[in-house]
Amino acid sequence: MKTDLKALCGLQRIDTEIITREARIKNIPLEIEKLGKDLLAKEEDFKKKEADLQKFTTKTRQLEQSIEDAKDKITKYKSQLLQIKTNKEYQAILQEISTEQAKISAYEEEILETLAQSDTLTKEFQGLRNQMENNKKDTLISQQELNKELEVVKQELSVKIKERDELTKSISKSLFIKYEHIKQGRHGIGIAEISGSTCKGCNAFLPPQIIAEVQKGEKIWVCDSCGRILIWHDE
Ligand SMILES: [Zn+2]
Repeated sequence: MKTDLKALCGLQRIDTEIITREARIKNIPLEIEKLGKDLLAKEEDFKKKEADLQKFTTKTRQLEQSIEDAKDKITKYKSQLLQIKTNKEYQAILQEISTEQAKISAYEEEILETLAQSDTLTKEFQGLRNQMENNKKDTLISQQELNKELEVVKQELSVKIKERDELTKSISKSLFIKYEHIKQGRHGIGIAEISGSTCKGCNAFLPPQIIAEVQKGEKIWVCDSCGRILIWHDE
């Protein structure tokens, strides 16, 4: 029985290692996916800023066009001036010209403001573009590393499974079945060491006679509280 329990401890160790690796195999793809999603969100943000910057360029172009239009009107009015007969008409056209000139001044001022704003934004954007490039590189590297880790962990898992199969052969069938049954629903942990006078699996108090029996190692004892197979730590 003692050798059986010793092998069982080894089996539990391997099983715990298997559980850790299985969890990692499940989690790595999720981590890779999350990195991709995070990058996508950053890219969306970047595109919004790019569109904002584009708005300033469009606005400047529109203002420049308005200036051109106003200048055309002034040229037209000036040519009309040559054909004017009355002073009243003359004054009216001069008024129109002055209105258009005022518009031009206002547009020019607005262009200057827009350019100043877009200059600031362009500088910020430049920094953001570099940051974005770095983000992409970092994400790719992290994803590659995770993929490599996944391969390694898969490899390790298959080794552990082989080790487990080997070790299982040295454990009596009835004990193995019992262990397999117990570890179900107990986070894959079928055995519990005794620490002082408590079960390490659930911290329940263990009567001295039970501890003495476990120490003898002639029979399988389970914890009354958590149902795990009790192991004396020497094993
Ligand atoms: Zn217990």
